[in-house]
Amino acid sequence: MQLIGIDIGGTKICVCFGTQQGEIRISKRIATQPLHGWKEGLKATAALIRELAQSEGINLQQIGGIGISAPGPISSREGKMLSPPNLPGWENAPLVSFFEKEFGRPVIMNHDGKAAALAEYRFGGSKGTLNLVYLTCSTGMGGGAIVEGRLVQGASDTAAEVGHFILDIHGPMCPCGLRGCFEAFCGGAAIAKKIQREIREQSLSTQILQEAGGNLEQIDAKCLINAVQKQDPYALKIWDEFCLRMAQGIGTVLMNFNPAVVILGTIAVHSGALLLDPLRKLLSRFAWKENVQACRIEASQLGDRLSELSALALVCGTDIYRT
Ligand SMILES: [Zn+2]
Repeated sequence: MQLIGIDIGGTKICVCFGTQQGEIRISKRIATQPLHGWKEGLKATAALIRELAQSEGINLQQIGGIGISAPGPISSREGKMLSPPNLPGWENAPLVSFFEKEFGRPVIMNHDGKAAALAEYRFGGSKGTLNLVYLTCSTGMGGGAIVEGRLVQGASDTAAEVGHFILDIHGPMCPCGLRGCFEAFCGGAAIAKKIQREIREQSLSTQILQEAGGNLEQIDAKCLINAVQKQDPYALKIWDEFCLRMAQGIGTVLMNFNPAVVILGTIAVHSGALLLDPLRKLLSRFAWKENVQACRIEASQLGDRLSELSALALVCGTDIYRT
């Protein structure tokens, strides 16, 4: 049976047709920004679905369901987005009712971090692991938790927002409005901001800046990882601090959920053992040994299929959260 997956992001909307086993039959992306707000965005998405269905000879009446992964905050009960900070014009976008009306098939939507956790549970390298936590480790620190085989949703769709556990009440401000969140220390944007500020204020000479072509504004986590691999002293110092804060954040996750696996996204995928080895050693400072011993820490293996699989995962199986 064919399913439709829709992943709505700040830069692109991804549409795919795929199966319950996570086989993607066809997938296409359109840029979000030129579309003005949700009305235009959803119409363009529906048109793309029809175009793909026609090119593949798929009868839309026989689609099993539509899964939509969207940036938070959302209301899964009302089936809509609320006020996404990176998507102006998409406030209160009624995703579920729009696509139900458009195609007459069941529609399930969820927060992108939760959808990605479900994608790891259904299709990832540790699929089927009943207690699993996923962290995006990208620009921000989104995530989701599977506990005893169920996605944890919460009363206002914000359970397991582990990126916003407070690590230090005197820490840096987080875009969410709290101070000292895990994300404010370990999100890619926060790390880049810290490095840019320190280079500017202390006139530092570092390989990180060279990795960014000498352009301070172009510095990102990838530049840091490259500089660490070249043993740049300042980059190594920043990396040590980063690994320690990662261990503190993940230690909190281990104590809260006692997962059998924590799967890390982008930064861990790019850095591999450079992050995972020190992390494993440091974890014992932040969590009981039972929790540390019970848990594997892995980099995600889903790669660039994550958008499609996150959306498809929402409409696979029957043991998931449904409104
Ligand atoms: Zn926060």
